[in-house]
Amino acid sequence: MANTRLEKVRAALAERNLDAVLVYKPENRAYLSGFTGTAGWLLITPAKAWLITDFRYAEQAATQAPAFEVIKPESTVAALLATLCEQHQINRLGIEGDYVTVDDYSAYEQALGERDLVSIAGTIETLRMIKDEAELTLMRRAAAIADETFSHILSYIKPGVAERDIAVEMEYKMKKLGAEGLAFDIIIASGVRSAMPHGVASDKQIAAGELVTLDFGAIYQGYCSDMTRTVMVGEPSAQQREIYAIVLEAEKRGVAATRAGINGKELDEVCRGYIREHGYAEAFGHSTGHGVGRYIHEGPKLSVRGETDLLKPGMVVTIEPGIYLSGWGGVRIEDMVLVQENGCESFSKSPRELKIL
Ligand code: ZN
Ligand code: ZN
Repeated sequence: MANTRLEKVRAALAERNLDAVLVYKPENRAYLSGFTGTAGWLLITPAKAWLITDFRYAEQAATQAPAFEVIKPESTVAALLATLCEQHQINRLGIEGDYVTVDDYSAYEQALGERDLVSIAGTIETLRMIKDEAELTLMRRAAAIADETFSHILSYIKPGVAERDIAVEMEYKMKKLGAEGLAFDIIIASGVRSAMPHGVASDKQIAAGELVTLDFGAIYQGYCSDMTRTVMVGEPSAQQREIYAIVLEAEKRGVAATRAGINGKELDEVCRGYIREHGYAEAFGHSTGHGVGRYIHEGPKLSVRGETDLLKPGMVVTIEPGIYLSGWGGVRIEDMVLVQENGCESFSKSPRELKIL
């Protein structure tokens, strides 16, 4: 598995005329090597693969990253890099320009002298957009944990309960189900707060007559899930029903249109166009969706600026239109789906019809 990923990064390296790449971003490092420690540098050449880490992680690194030779720096990482570059004729080294700090860059520059440092920002992220079978298995499980947590939490959502208490119970449930963490701070936004697309759970108590938006996800063995449902506490008003029905139809159309070959802008327009036709264009101010993987927000972008983000089989994306009316509230529905040749497979299985509690 990791070997196929190494092959892919080596092909990218050849394409860019690089002699090696240095990888430090935690998600990229774990993706290529399997190593999940917090400190480690991968140095990959066409023939060799090293994992540079310190004493604390030596044993873990050897177990988790069998395709890599684990080495410990005698003094600094920069000095070890200089030695390896000298020994293996590395003259053009790719580094993650969007992640390396100014201080580390200066240290590398000084240690490596005349050698070229070239930014490979986005290169490994592009590889990561297409998930392999091992990754999809973990993402299905991460989504299933979110589904189970949603059905578990429904009986807790009632007038008088604080949003924060619901979030705490959800976190506990996700961890009991095997999640090692939360994909992001749980969003519980009730009543007028549901007009805030990213209203993290507060002390506000839920009241009858309110819509409650729950947006959450688990991290399972390094992979995130992401799902949103909006539920109704008490009998909905005509307007609450109307807004919910528009968002639901927009979301269903978005999922139905998801397949290989469509671009992010076209898919965004499927949802946005439907909401616009119903007069709520101004009330849908965020993008329709995003890629998900080791990181909660990855490529591709499904937005008005997503014309170059072409969907391909193996990408996992969210479809999450919403309508938000300041002072009134909002509705968002989000599913996480796997892009396939002629359609998609939804990893989120929770019912989307309005749940009245
Ligand atoms: Zn979400
Ligand atoms: Zn999302």
